[in-house]
This record gives sequence, structure tokens and C-alpha cells, in this order.
Amino acid sequence: MATDIISQGRSFDFLIVGAGMAGASAAYFLSTEGSVLMLEMESQPGYHTTGRSAALFSEAYGNAPIRALTSSGRAFLIDPPDGFANTAILTPRGALFVGREDQMASLDAAYEAGAEHLDSVQRLTARDVRELVPVLREGYAAAGVLEADAMDMDVNALHQGFLRGARGRGAQLRQDARVAGLKRENGAWRVRAGGENFFAKVVINAAGAWCDEVATLAGARPVGLVPKRRTAILFDGPSEMPFAAWPAFIDADEEFYARPESGALMGSPADETPMAPCDVQAEELDIAIAVDRLQTATTLEIRRIIRSWAGLRSFVADKTPVVGFDPEVDGFFWLAGQGGYGIQTSPSMGRVAAALARGDDVPADLQQFGVVAAELSPGRFGPGPMD
Ligand SMILES: Cc1cc2nc3c(=O)[nH]c(=O)nc-3n(C[C@H](O)[C@H](O)[C@H](O)COP(=O)(O)OP(=O)(O)OC[C@H]3O[C@@H](n4cnc5c(N)ncnc54)[C@H](O)[C@@H]3O)c2cc1C
Repeated sequence: MATDIISQGRSFDFLIVGAGMAGASAAYFLSTEGSVLMLEMESQPGYHTTGRSAALFSEAYGNAPIRALTSSGRAFLIDPPDGFANTAILTPRGALFVGREDQMASLDAAYEAGAEHLDSVQRLTARDVRELVPVLREGYAAAGVLEADAMDMDVNALHQGFLRGARGRGAQLRQDARVAGLKRENGAWRVRAGGENFFAKVVINAAGAWCDEVATLAGARPVGLVPKRRTAILFDGPSEMPFAAWPAFIDADEEFYARPESGALMGSPADETPMAPCDVQAEELDIAIAVDRLQTATTLEIRRIIRSWAGLRSFVADKTPVVGFDPEVDGFFWLAGQGGYGIQTSPSMGRVAAALARGDDVPADLQQFGVVAAELSPGRFGPGPMD
């Protein structure tokens, strides 16, 4: 560790690049183990993907490693430690996958994947489906699959809980501090951000869509992360019926979804447009596609869009997050590729990251849910170019 006069007060055990949900959750669990600094390039830590999610917790969503991370974190979200949040983080919602006649294979696959893992997943008839979401057009849905235990998440309460908890244990957060240089010197990192130098034994790359760029700064090979734009709209619900208790309803092929939100309805065309990391905005065309798909499936008349936004969901090729030390660059730790699941997986992902970053194995209780370090490891990409 560098110990010159410049480094005094600026040396940390763990320096985390990015204070979105990934960086904040890692800081929360690492701050019991050592000194932690989070460096965030924006003035608001939730400005990028974390502040733009659909806020749905679904244990049936994503591949097996994602489902293991999600289910193993449920207890934390239901009953977080005292003082973590003033409001409930999870509240009941339900997730209803709807399929037309020609989508029965996709609906069957959704049922198989969900039922294999969860007792609460059930098949529904066309009639059941319309009882739950009466605006679905008569004859549109041939059947449905209900994940009754899916929940709404209070993303801000969760993010602030991690940040507040980490700071309460001594972690520091610097905002408006973009990491622009990473250099390994004498067994430690010299990190340049906001015109200052910081020093750390371990750098944790939790930069969301920018993780491959940050890795390049550190001399590590990119993992082939692809940020994909996803659009959301908030619009007025039907005036003629109550809708606050509807489940989220999701097309069996994920071509659209919608759910009640803040007295209105939130919808998405479930777009996945690859793009370079940036402050992404919603495109008119994607908004129009969202409106068209929702109006085709339902009797909703979307006359007024209250708000629209877009965010980047970042994936590697196998759609599994990348968590662990870089196989080639000393002291460089990845916490990347959370895709469309980085909020619901954050309690377990933060714990796994903290355990691996301090040289331990995955905590035993998470292993019991099927969380396996090798499946998350950046080493899984093997030798050769990753991008
Ligand atoms: C429309 C939409 C719907 C979604 N729905 C859900 C959902 O229902 N459930 C769910 O679990 N997930 C959902 N997600 C995914 C979830 O939002 C993400 O997986 C999660 O927010 C990723 O968190 P993160 O911390 O990795 O990224 P971010 O929140 O983007 O944080 C990364 C941070 O790194 C900072 N940064 C980057 N480069 C630097 C640098 N050089 N120096 C300093 N700081 C830097 C950025 O400013 C940013 O704040 C959704 C996403 C979108 C867009």
C-alpha cells in the first residue's frame, strides 16, 4: 500500500467505482470488513440504470444463477436489518405472463422454468387472466401463468438503505468524481478521480454500463459487456375501473409489460437495443411501439403519456453477472453485467461480492440456494479475447 504523505486519508482497503445499486450493496457488506470509498461520477448515485428500473421482484425471471441470487436475497428484502429503511422494500404485486394461442410454447416454458423453482407458480385459463386484468382484449390471451409472490420493490429505499448503512459503518462516498485513471503501483492501486489521487488495495468495478471502459483503464480485458436500451412510459390508467391491485402483466415472449405505478400505469415495449454507454433517453419510436403493443393487447386508450424514460441494461453473452477478481490483473474485482435483474439480486450480489473480494467463498446460506462462484467468475470466459 502506498504510504507517502499524499496518500494519508486517501488510502482504502476497497475502492468502488460507481455507487448505483451494485456499488452501494457491495459497500454495505464490505464496510464491516475494512475501509471503503465509493467514487461516483454523477452528483446523484442513482442517476443511471438504478434510478430507471421497472422495480419488479420476480423469482421466476432470468437464468438459473439469477434465480438463485434473487431467491437467496428475498429474506433480506422482506425483513432488512433494523434501521435499514423506513418503509417496506417489497410489497405484494404478482406477475402474470399472458400468451396468445400462438405463444403457448413460450408460456409453457415460462411455467416449467417457474414451477421448477417456485411452488406459487400456477397456470391460468383465459377467463382467469381476464379476471385479473380486465382490460386484456377478449380473445387475446389464450392462457396465463401467474407468479403470485412477485413483488413491487421500493428501489430508492433499498439503494438509500445500502448507502446510509455503508456510511454509518464508515464508508465514504464522493460524488462528481469520475474515475479517469487506474494504475497498479507497489501492490496497490492509484486511482485518479475528480483531479485527486486515491489509493486502494482492491478496486471494485461496479460502473454499470461503463464496466468494460473502467476495466480498460485498469489494463484488464473487457468481458464483452453490451448495454441495451430499455424504454418505459408512465400513462393514465382507465378511469372506469380500479387498477391499483392488478398484477404486472407480461407478454409470454416479453414483447411488452405493464404494471400499476404511482396511481398510473407503467409500460414498456421490452426493447433491447445495443448501444454505447451514455445518458440514454427514450426514443419516440420505442414509445410508439410501447403504445401500439399495449393497445393491441388491451382495451387501454393511451391518450396522455405522463413521463417516459430509458435505461441501459448491461449483459455479457451468457446473461449471467460477472462477479470476482480479474484472472489476470491483480486486485481488480468485477461486479458487472446485472442486466435486468440488478435490483432484485442486489442483497445477495452485494454479499457475494464482499465475500469474494475479501478472499472468502460464497456464504454457505447462499450456496444452499445454488449460488456458485465459478458461474459468476470473470475467469469463466477463458483465455483469448473476451469481446
Ligand atoms: C427499464 C428498466 C427496467 C428494469 N427493471 C428491473 C426490474 O424490474 N428488476 C430488477 O431487479 N432490475 C431491473 N432493471 C435492471 C437494474 O436497474 C440494473 O440491473 C441495476 O440498476 C444495475 O445497477 P448498477 O449499479 O450496476 O448500474 P448503475 O445504476 O448504472 O450504476 C453504475 C454507476 O457507475 C457510475 N460510473 C460509471 N463510470 C464511472 C466512472 N468512470 N467513475 C465513477 N463512476 C462511474 C455511473 O454514474 C453509475 O451511477 C431494469 C433496468 C431498466 C433500464
